[in-house]
Amino acid sequence: MSVKFAVQPSVSLVDAEARAEILANPAFGRVFTDHMVCASWTAADGWHDARLTGYAPVSIDPASVVLHYGQTVFEGLKAYRQPGGGVSLFRPERNAARMAASCHRLALPEFPEDAFVEACELLVIQDQAWVPGGEGASLYLRPFVWATEVGLGVRPSESALFQLIASPSGNYFSGPLRPVSLWLSQEYVRAAPGGTGAAKCGGNYAASLVAQQEAIENGCDQVVFLDAVEHRWLEELGGMNIFLVLDDGTLVTPEVSGTILEGITRDSIITLARELGHAVEERKVDVDEWRKGAVDGHVVEAFACGTAAVITPIGALRWPGGEAVAGTGEPGTVTMKLREALMDVQYGRTPDTHGWMHKVV
Ligand SMILES: *Cc1c(COP(=O)(O)O)cnc(C)c1O
Repeated sequence: MSVKFAVQPSVSLVDAEARAEILANPAFGRVFTDHMVCASWTAADGWHDARLTGYAPVSIDPASVVLHYGQTVFEGLKAYRQPGGGVSLFRPERNAARMAASCHRLALPEFPEDAFVEACELLVIQDQAWVPGGEGASLYLRPFVWATEVGLGVRPSESALFQLIASPSGNYFSGPLRPVSLWLSQEYVRAAPGGTGAAKCGGNYAASLVAQQEAIENGCDQVVFLDAVEHRWLEELGGMNIFLVLDDGTLVTPEVSGTILEGITRDSIITLARELGHAVEERKVDVDEWRKGAVDGHVVEAFACGTAAVITPIGALRWPGGEAVAGTGEPGTVTMKLREALMDVQYGRTPDTHGWMHKVV
């Protein structure tokens, strides 16, 4: 059964002057647009009451399942201003499919993939004035599904809400592009075999925060996790995938094994890198390959990737009592070339030969 959206635009919009001020310096995820999209689900009626309305708080019963048992998933994708003034989404159908998979893992109802894309289109059309122009700027879309049933029994919620909100965004890490330093977590893991590591669920982030705090306390920007079993294989950052560049130009990235989140940026980079003549290996990556390789010149660059920050160069990798820096520690040439190639597609500066761009307006 297809989901039909009612469109009920808000009558009180942020005025153009205030919006222009926000768009001039949008930061990340702090200000939201005039509208949102919602759809309700119950076990009895399926998805219903889908609507675009003014952005507004939701009132929530303190006994809602999501507050106690964390039954919730989310997505993140961006709308990019195109040359000539149009707006396009980047690979939204991949986010739609991934959210359905995440819902499945969290025993939430799957939001239909075509309805997901339609919801994104509706919000971008309605709030197109909120899509910033300028280098590195975009409108970040945040779809999510959460368990609304009231009651403390531990079982899948029999009701849920899909919501979509949007936030104008500048560069994720503020200021000029600088390499991030990583803290190699000794004590904590992000995901274990059979767990929820491959799902984009709130709980994964909750579980990573104390390790992220530890990274900051140790003077690093981000935490990097190893596998839960041998504590030896690279997995990913709290919210980004990771690549190493070897001295012969080969890219290596941890293989998709059920404990990393399969990033759409990761997938796009693999495609672009191969087209640019790089070999790409998806395999297990021993953290010592990085530690030793940074010293003997085998590993020349490292970078992290995800929708929010695109491609971020990695400078130092640190652990208690040690540090490794691949290459010069400055953004590497392969890293920057791939970043440019991906952003050229997203901002419509180069032909979209993969059908990745989804034109909205
Ligand atoms: C969202 C996310 C990523 C990046 O995925 P993209 O589709 O590239 O944005 C990587 N790791 C984790 C844990 C994530 O939640």
